[in-house]
Amino acid sequence: MIIPVRTKDSFYEVHLGEKILREFCERNVMSFQKADQIIVITDENVWNIHKEYFNKNFSLPYKIHLVPNGESCKTFESYFDVQTFLLQENCSRNSILLAFGGGAIGDLTGFVAATFMRGISFYQIPTTILAHDSAVGGKTAINHPNGKNMIGAFYQPSEVLYDFHFLQTLPKNEVRSGLAEVIKHALISNEAWVHDFFLLPSIDAIQKDELLVWLEKGIRVKAHIVELDEKEQSFRKFLNFGHTYGHAIEASIGYGKITHGEAVMIGMIPALMLSEIRGKLEKGYARKVFNLAIKLDYNFHHVLNCSFEQLASFMLKDKKTTNGELHFALLEKIGEPFVKIISMEDVKKCDEL
Ligand code: NAD
Ligand code: ZN
Repeated sequence: MIIPVRTKDSFYEVHLGEKILREFCERNVMSFQKADQIIVITDENVWNIHKEYFNKNFSLPYKIHLVPNGESCKTFESYFDVQTFLLQENCSRNSILLAFGGGAIGDLTGFVAATFMRGISFYQIPTTILAHDSAVGGKTAINHPNGKNMIGAFYQPSEVLYDFHFLQTLPKNEVRSGLAEVIKHALISNEAWVHDFFLLPSIDAIQKDELLVWLEKGIRVKAHIVELDEKEQSFRKFLNFGHTYGHAIEASIGYGKITHGEAVMIGMIPALMLSEIRGKLEKGYARKVFNLAIKLDYNFHHVLNCSFEQLASFMLKDKKTTNGELHFALLEKIGEPFVKIISMEDVKKCDEL
């Protein structure tokens, strides 16, 4: 299956399917052979688990650069290390990067690709559920101690290869993390789809075929919004649903100490409460999503240790905050997002509930 993504200056395809790495290599063989170097950026976890499959199906010469696992690769030090590696390997504008891993690898590699010699091609090979979101749309970034994704660029990949084969080895907490972004895509696009999640008895009950359909739907939602508004001037802000609060949770607890998706799942609850108070969302959805989060074992304990003052200080530093005004993505109803300026007093009310 192929989902096209068209922005003002780029066009690329998201290829989805099971065991499609070999096809990817064959389809792009001309571009890959023209490149003077192919560099695979990945982390030790992904590489140890999947190198055999990768080597069996990716038949062209490449060099590998390993970075720290997960969020800890999105630092200035890792970014600088990758740049140093590329220079030591005599990479040029004609080199190609393959981002092989979860969203953190994709964000880091994309930002390196955007800035190495003012921009080189890169391909996304996502290996997590969450990366159905992060690999599409061209947002690339590293973190600053003062805030998440603060240093980055909009830079689109040449192609996204989403081989479901990689998802089989995901630990349960990463399934949970990725599912949060799938649920977000459902909440901002399609009420009937949201009800699929309410029927889930537990995280273990997710069926593979069902998950693959959800991932395809999620990518279509993301691709459509990116096509309308690549640079986040309007519609793309809807994708931040749950993220103003979620990013503040991640920053307060410490990056990597809670998964991105878990923070987003928790952050969607105040966003739904605000939608009920400040939008026209039918009452009860915040409670239903809270119950779902409990049923799927999202961990609220971390958040209980965050003071509201601490969360508020991070929300005020959010990229979407201007002159102290919080721009919250909310829902008019399920499937109908909008953005509203919200006062910190209103956010505090939700925190107290
Ligand atoms: P991740 O990249 O941090 O990976 C999580 C862990 O899973 C890592 O330890 C990794 O080694 C491991 N892993 C990855 N694939 C695996 C596999 N197939 N089997 C076993 N283990 C595997 O996590 P993520 O949740 O994919 O990404 C989170 C990041 O994505 C955050 O930094 C977030 O800010 C970013 N993000 C970016 C966008 C965007 O539009 N650019 C959107 C959403 C999230
Ligand atoms: Zn996210």
